[in-house]
Amino acid sequence: MRLVQPESLEAAEAALGNGSRALAGGTELVPLLRSRLVEADTLVDVRGVVPRGVNGTTIGAGTTLAELERDPEIPAALREACTLAASPQLRSMGTIGGNLLQATRCWYWRLNYPCFLHGGSECHAREGAHREHAIFGNEHCASAHPSDPAAALLALGATLRTDRRELPVADLYRLPTEDDRDVTSLEPGELILELEVPRPDASTYLKAMERNRFSFALVGVAAARTGGETRLALAGVAPIPWLLDGPDELERATPLPGTAYKVDLARPLVRRALEALG
Ligand SMILES: Cc1cc2nc3c(=O)[nH]c(=O)nc-3n(C[C@H](O)[C@H](O)[C@H](O)COP(=O)(O)OP(=O)(O)OC[C@H]3O[C@@H](n4cnc5c(N)ncnc54)[C@H](O)[C@@H]3O)c2cc1C
Ligand code: SF4
Repeated sequence: MRLVQPESLEAAEAALGNGSRALAGGTELVPLLRSRLVEADTLVDVRGVVPRGVNGTTIGAGTTLAELERDPEIPAALREACTLAASPQLRSMGTIGGNLLQATRCWYWRLNYPCFLHGGSECHAREGAHREHAIFGNEHCASAHPSDPAAALLALGATLRTDRRELPVADLYRLPTEDDRDVTSLEPGELILELEVPRPDASTYLKAMERNRFSFALVGVAAARTGGETRLALAGVAPIPWLLDGPDELERATPLPGTAYKVDLARPLVRRALEALG
């Protein structure tokens, strides 16, 4: 495997595609390469070309979660989501761009079962163990999206700038279908460069976990209020970060037998998040 360290965005773009992969902090990509869930002949280290740091409402995609959790200018929902994610070591290496593109933690997928998301015909979690899985959007794949910051950015109404276009964070994600098993709309070789995160009047992120630290969300709830509008988004409840119409949508959830408890977890978290907005 080759490692290239381009010095310009143009050089990075030229090196991407055709069996190469972008490498940022490597906290997600390296384990996936090691388990052969991702194949690459070339790794393109994008840390020298993807912006890093915070400038007003603009966040470089190369900014680490640790940098975001420390910055008082960052809206509370995103700061708290970063603080509650992973471990201090992982947050020091892991970037916000890489976090948004992390793969599912579903163990069937991680153990390379030939499941729907891997291109097969069935979801093994549906019949098998699925306590951590989805309560929404689980018709084909019942995985639960693991990113806390993605839910926060969704509630905050953030947008992304890539090297090809601008798009709302909501449009980065798509439910997998028979024709396309991908859960993001990013094109091969497309680089996330920056995020534009509006400043809300108030925001918060609450997370239910197996333990209080270093645990993926069973349910994460982000809430943000701007003017008269309040937006809610959930982590850990669907194959993609889930924008919730309102508390009532929880009553229309489609849990599996083993995930019904997540609806009961989400109700008080949503209520507490809305109370926290004042
Ligand atoms: C044990 C463990 C626990 C964790 N717990 C949590 C948790 O509780 N909550 C949570 O939200 N996350 C959690 N994470 C995920 C962690 O936050 C991510 O692994 C990290 O943020 C990924 O960032 P990275 O820079 O290391 O990405 P990398 O590993 O370098 O890349 C990840 C993916 O993104 C792509 N990529 C990276 N940067 C760009 C870019 N700018 N443009 C386009 N593509 C890009 C890569 O090609 C790769 O496919 C956990 C991870 C681990 C290993
Ligand atoms: S939940 Fe998704 S990733 Fe897990 S086994 Fe089912 S199809 Fe595969």
